[in-house]
Formats: sequence, structure tokens, C-alpha cells
Amino acid sequence: MRCGLIADIHANLAAFERCLEEIGPVHEFWCMGDVVGYGPQPNECIERLSASPHVCVAGNHDLGAVGIADLSDFNEEAREACMWTEGQLSEANSEYLKSLPQRATPAEGVLMVHGSPRDPIWEYVLSSWQADEIFREFKEGLVLVGHSHVPFIFESSGGAPAELVPLMEGELISLDPEKSKYVVNPGGVGQPRDRDPRASFMIFDSAHWTLEYRRTDYDIEDTKKKMRAAGLPSRLAARLSQGV
Ligand code: ZN
Repeated sequence: MRCGLIADIHANLAAFERCLEEIGPVHEFWCMGDVVGYGPQPNECIERLSASPHVCVAGNHDLGAVGIADLSDFNEEAREACMWTEGQLSEANSEYLKSLPQRATPAEGVLMVHGSPRDPIWEYVLSSWQADEIFREFKEGLVLVGHSHVPFIFESSGGAPAELVPLMEGELISLDPEKSKYVVNPGGVGQPRDRDPRASFMIFDSAHWTLEYRRTDYDIEDTKKKMRAAGLPSRLAARLSQGV
């Protein structure tokens, strides 16, 4: 099964649509949460995702925009964007976000969360020691996360400490579920934070256990213009050009 791995769309439809074009036909999209928040087109992004076969877990912004996550846990600009989003969401799309699970197992041996398996909504996984803890505490060979908006693959081979797998755009990476365990973040679709403003995603082949890491340009100015027109905080628009 060919799967599009996406996370942190953040209501950025221009970025999301470019990713969908680049990913091409897949059996399913696996989305690690934060479909909304920050960006100007929350309804359109939910509806675009819903139009394809997909599995999606809840992110902190998804829950913040429907009154489930406490808004005092967000910084000021994120909170402002959550409140704006809540005011925009259609009834059906609000219900969609409320229905998202915190964890999902889209295939055997695969666990999906937004943050981390032990704190699915809020923990940022960024270090090898966190990956080691996940490998100790959870049995799945492939843990898919989002939340940090930074693409990475941590691998632990034969129980050794986790190491980063070098990411080369467009190169096929073979995973070995017999020997190794992995924590993977496909990076942010709608608000990358690794100083590369291009939208980030991966493609996973669950039959052959291969991963492909990809980036794509999109019309950032179009998204920024829509954010300004919506009255969203100006710093949230500015950061898109810097990839932070
Ligand atoms: Zn996010």
C-alpha cells in the first residue's frame, strides 16, 4: 500500500494542494494532525483531506479550535489563530476535528500520533533520547509523529541507541522492520520549521517498507495574502517565508 505521510497542514491550502499533486495517487493519506490552526483556509483543508481515503489523528491546534484543548496552553499568536479558526469552522468540520482519535494504528506495526506516543497532543519529539524512550515503551516498529514541523527519521538497529538517518530528497530509504525500529516525522506541510520554507512530506510503501522524503515549492505569497486578509497575526504570515 502506497501512503502519503503528511502532518501540520495548518490550514495552508496552497501548500497542501501542491503536496497532493506531488504525492500523486496513493491508497491512503496518513495525517499526523494539526490540519488547522495558523493558516487561512481551515474548512478547505479539512474538506480536501476528507475527500481522499485517509487516517488522521488529533493535533493540539485541531483540539484548540474546537474547545477541547485549553487555549491557555498556547502562545498568544497560536491562541489568536485558534480562536479565529473556531469562528470559521463549519459545523461538520468542527465535528470532524472533535472526532479525531489521539492515536491510530493504520497498519500492522505502525503507530500514528501528533506529539509522542506517551503524550500524543503536546510532547515534541526532537532528540535521539526521546526516540530511545519510545522504542523502550512501545512495541510498534514504526512510530509516525508530527508537531515539531521538522522532518527526520530516527532508527534504532538491534536495540542500539537511536540515530538520525540522513535525509536526501527524492531518495528511496529502505526500512528493515525485522532489525530496526523507527520514529519518523514527515515535516510540516503548511508551516515548515527547519529553515526551508518548502512544504515537506514523505511517501511510505507499506508492502516494501520504503520511505521517500520530498519537498515542494508552493505559492507562499498567496497564503500570506489570505492570512493578512483574514486578520491573522502578521508574524504567522512572515514566518512562512523563512521556514521557521
Ligand atoms: Zn503544528
